[in-house]
Amino acid sequence: MLNIPTIGKKRIVIIGGGFAGLKLANKLRNSNFQIVFIDKNNYHQFQPLFYQVATSGIEPSAILFPFRKIFNSYKDLHLRITEVLEILPEQKRIRTISGTCFYDYLIIATGATTSFFGLENVEKIAHPMKSVVEAISLRNCILENMEKALLIDKPEDQVPYMNIVVVGGGPTGTEVAGALAEMRKHIFPKEYKELDITRIRIVLIEASSSLVKGMSSGSSSKSMEYLLKLGVEVRIGIRVIDYFHSTVILSDGEKIPSNTVIWAAGIKGNKIPGLPDFVWNSFDRIKVDEFNAVIGLSDVFALGDICLMESKEYPLGHPQVAQVAIQQADCLAGNLLRKDKNNKLKSFQYKNLGSMATIGRHLAVVDLPFIKLKGIIAWYIWMFIHLMAILGVRNKLVVFINWIWSYFTFDQSLRLIIHRKTNKNAL
Ligand SMILES: Cc1cc2nc3c(=O)[nH]c(=O)nc-3n(C[C@H](O)[C@H](O)[C@H](O)COP(=O)(O)OP(=O)(O)OC[C@H]3O[C@@H](n4cnc5c(N)ncnc54)[C@H](O)[C@@H]3O)c2cc1C
Repeated sequence: MLNIPTIGKKRIVIIGGGFAGLKLANKLRNSNFQIVFIDKNNYHQFQPLFYQVATSGIEPSAILFPFRKIFNSYKDLHLRITEVLEILPEQKRIRTISGTCFYDYLIIATGATTSFFGLENVEKIAHPMKSVVEAISLRNCILENMEKALLIDKPEDQVPYMNIVVVGGGPTGTEVAGALAEMRKHIFPKEYKELDITRIRIVLIEASSSLVKGMSSGSSSKSMEYLLKLGVEVRIGIRVIDYFHSTVILSDGEKIPSNTVIWAAGIKGNKIPGLPDFVWNSFDRIKVDEFNAVIGLSDVFALGDICLMESKEYPLGHPQVAQVAIQQADCLAGNLLRKDKNNKLKSFQYKNLGSMATIGRHLAVVDLPFIKLKGIIAWYIWMFIHLMAILGVRNKLVVFINWIWSYFTFDQSLRLIIHRKTNKNAL
């Protein structure tokens, strides 16, 4: 039964400690509610910097923060590290690996996971980046394939180990492609002297008609210009359709040999069974009304990437970004407090604070509501905003020192291949 005391206060169960769940718990701290906070990991993950972990730019611990440290001064908050397996709305209960728990209000903030659009062969080999574990696994893959290339004597057989294919030209794909191009320029020539580094291809594939979709057309074309400047090959309007014999097959018939395939192309909600079918859309997002209440259910709410709120301005739902999750949590916290006092609820209005992407050293694009910036100024703004958003003073310092170090030395010492003991493929 998760060992949670009944204390005579209404119980709010929050599933998921991402941007949404954390913000909600923070706004309701020391309120008149009992909070049960559940996550399958014991840490919060700062997803926007996963790509820097994957490209050996920062250490994983710098972008993680343990929940117990965040909550140690919160009253009546019970943290349970366990995975939620099922929601039973008619009983007002959830079922976890470790037992069940009742709720007065349930908040689902489980975020999103990767969608491979049914491409089974691609799913078997491609590396997604939706968790820090996946980011580390990608780091291993990039470094291991370079090591494997060195072990091969015939240059033609080295090709799949040296080519890197990035699928998805949104901010994540664009950022990772840029970071890899920087590695190819500054790191690999020093460390893999026996390989012909000019033969390493980095290919970015985007199915739609532009890069960093969602940003302005100016930022999109600048991103393309920056990537080309860094030597990234960009394919626009092209889809990956399959993967056979170490080769990525594209919709225009092109074949790219590669054992390093990075998937930053599609996402779907982190679905928990139990809710009726009518609440889900085709990308496993939960349909909610303007108060984040799940349609057709009472006392169940969904926040952030997992939810889909249709509105006049956003008929297909809000973008799945951190600010939406944070602002929705902020609004819902206010509404739960209002509900408790029988006051009128406020509907959610998204305030778009802007978007940004960094492609390489001094190369970034920033779209703010009042101004659009590019180049070195945008790069400094990107760094400042991300640094401020990371949880914890220590983490901010570690990331800042890492960035300063690599700025002056063009280097990092985090290129470590670390496997679990049981992994038979370990070098
Ligand atoms: C690589 C990458 C880069 C990104 N870059 C940016 C960026 O630059 N700017 C931006 O605004 N957004 C960015 N995003 C998107 C942003 O990170 C998400 O929009 C945001 O994290 C959504 O917050 P959330 O709280 O809805 O979910 P999440 O942050 O995903 O949190 C979900 C939580 O739920 C937990 N969970 C899931 N299922 C269960 C279960 N069954 N039981 C228990 N716990 C569970 C997970 O462990 C996790 O802690 C990026 C995302 C990725 C993957």
